[in-house]
Order: sequence, then C-alpha cells, then structure tokens
Amino acid sequence: MWALRGLRNGVVTTRWPARPDEYAAMTRGPATVLAGHAAPASAGEAEQLSGLCPAGAITVDPPGRIRLDQGGCIQCGRCVAARPDLFGWSAGPGQAALSRAGLVVPVEEDPDSLAALAGQLRARTRALRRSVHLRHVDAGSDGSEEWEIMALLNPVYDIHRLGMFFTASPRHADVLLVTGAGSRGMAGPLRETYEAMPHPKAVIAVGTDAVGGGLVSPTYATSGGIGGIVPVDVWLPGSPPSPFAILSALLLALDRLPSGNGGTVARAAGDGARP
Ligand code: SF4
Repeated sequence: MWALRGLRNGVVTTRWPARPDEYAAMTRGPATVLAGHAAPASAGEAEQLSGLCPAGAITVDPPGRIRLDQGGCIQCGRCVAARPDLFGWSAGPGQAALSRAGLVVPVEEDPDSLAALAGQLRARTRALRRSVHLRHVDAGSDGSEEWEIMALLNPVYDIHRLGMFFTASPRHADVLLVTGAGSRGMAGPLRETYEAMPHPKAVIAVGTDAVGGGLVSPTYATSGGIGGIVPVDVWLPGSPPSPFAILSALLLALDRLPSGNGGTVARAAGDGARP
C-alpha cells in the first residue's frame, strides 16, 4: 500500500538550491519597505506610520526616511494592510543577513564591511565542507520555529541530501541553530552548549524572537534575543522563517549558497526593498 502510494507520488524532494524551486520563490518573509515610495507628507503621518507596528519595527527618521527592522517584524501584516503603497512582503528563501544591521531595510550596510564579515566567516567555516552536524537549542521559543526546523527532515526538504545532519551532542556539532527570545533561564545552558562545540563553529539565530526578542522582550524573563548570550554569525528573521529560509541561512553560514539563490546577495548589493 505504502509502496504503491510512494510510486504514485513520485519524487517530491526539492532540488533547491541546485535548481530553482517555484515554491521556494513564493515563500513569504518579513514585511519590507517598497522601493520608490513617497516620504511621509507630515510629522503626523510619520508618527502614524511608526504607530502601525505593534513590535516597534517601523521608524521614520527626521529627513522622512521610513525604516523597517525585519529582525523585529512578527509578520502580523498590519503595515501591509494599512499602507500597501509603502509596505509589502519580502519573498524567497534569502532572508538571512551576516549582521544585525543588515536586517534593517532599506539596507545601508557598507559593502566593504559586509565583504569583510563574509570573508571572516568563510575562513572560519572552510573546513566544514562535507558532512555538517547541527545542534538545535530552544532558548525560549513559542514552538513555531521548531515546526519549520523539523520540516527540514521530511521528504520535501530532505536536509540530508545536502550532507547536513542533526546531532544530540554539542561535542559533535558544527553549527548551532538557536530559536527563542533568549530566556534568562536558558542563557547558561545555551552558553555551555556553545562552549562545548569544537572549533570551527557557526551560530545562526533562527526567527525574529532569536534575532530581536520579538514581542516578549525585554522582560524580566527574556534578554531580547540571543545576540547577548552567544556570538551570532547569521541572523535569520521571520516569524517563523520557512524551511527554505533556514536552508538558505545554513548554506550562507557555510559559504555554499549559489549566487542568485538568496536575497542575501541582494542585501549585499544594498537592495532592501524586495517585494
Ligand atoms: S508586518 Fe506587523 S510586525 Fe511586521 S513591520 Fe508590519 S506591522 Fe510591524
């Protein structure tokens, strides 16, 4: 019965990133500021725009430039619904950035410092070219990112085809995936996990909560993201990020992301408005 069903379904596993995947290109990321929008006409409008976001991710600076911190976006959709002329959804798997500042759109990162960051990470993870072992730590997550991480093991994403495997032991881990807002109770175990991992190693903050603390930070119980607990190499926003976005962040950390298969390349070019 199962064999027949399998034969009928054929191969469902994506070939991404070796081949384009229509579904990967459609996956929704955090909100973004649309290119070519008009600046707010008055101080009142600027205040209204900032007040749209329950997570405080939208700001308007004195010259009237609208900025949206994708690392704080919980994808509630309020800004897109209220002002579709200014805000839209980013799409595609390439949502991750190599620096926290790189998540603020429009991106204004210095290309030289971005290239230096990429070079340092490349040099550090050069040895991780064959099988790579991943350790996941939940540092106060709501569970949504865990569903997406678990999906990496299903036949559609099949992370093993990329030579990546989850491990229960930090001693065997090369990459640390961290979810959650960085709860104070998990700060010690997270730090210990990081310290137990052998060199070279890389850390990925997975999801808006891990990047910036989300709606639950700062409080007595959370530390506003995991950046203050362990050094982060790749920042992946999204609430939650799609499995394709997590794959893309992993490939970015390992310098295995083919150009043209992720928005990070676009970020590097300073294109923050990706509808
Ligand atoms: S989608 Fe919601 S959380 Fe994200 S920037 Fe817009 S209003 Fe803020």
